[in-house]
Amino acid sequence: MRKLLFESLLQTPLTEAPPSRDDAALAELAQSLERAARRRLGRSLSIREVDAGSCNGCELEIHALNNAYYDIDRFGLRFVASPRHADVLLVTGPVTKNMKIALERTYAAAPDPKWVVAVGDCAAGCGVFEGSYAVVGAVENVVPVDLHIRGCPPKPIDLLRGLIALMEKAVGRQGFP
Ligand code: SF4
Repeated sequence: MRKLLFESLLQTPLTEAPPSRDDAALAELAQSLERAARRRLGRSLSIREVDAGSCNGCELEIHALNNAYYDIDRFGLRFVASPRHADVLLVTGPVTKNMKIALERTYAAAPDPKWVVAVGDCAAGCGVFEGSYAVVGAVENVVPVDLHIRGCPPKPIDLLRGLIALMEKAVGRQGFP
């Protein structure tokens, strides 16, 4: 035990060094999203994440938006627990047979105006799960999709850029959706 304690005191950390923090670029992106949401909705954006059958790789990147590095909460963007409080549904994974009805109910429960963002290659076209017996199809086969954010998985910064594009489109078009 004493040997183990001594070794752990001398050992360097096994984790990788964090990437250099480009806080200015991140802040600019998140603030653009916040401004666009306020122009379109009069308040900040509420997001509900729906896992329709993913491998959870996409969830890890979505969760990263809330970690100490990205911390999008500080810009007023928040994840909510209920679709009834959501403006945007972020849907990941191909839609599995088990999740089809749950996704349809979640979509129906979200108030208008609402937008659906299909996150990841699986959400866009089933990705590596294409042809699986357990899969119904891409997200757009089950609910209307306003934006696809490709990648396996997409990076948190791509998620932010996608949400900004969605809000800018919503501000620029009368009657959207
Ligand atoms: S796109 Fe990639 S990371 Fe996301 S659910 Fe599919 S396999 Fe997993």
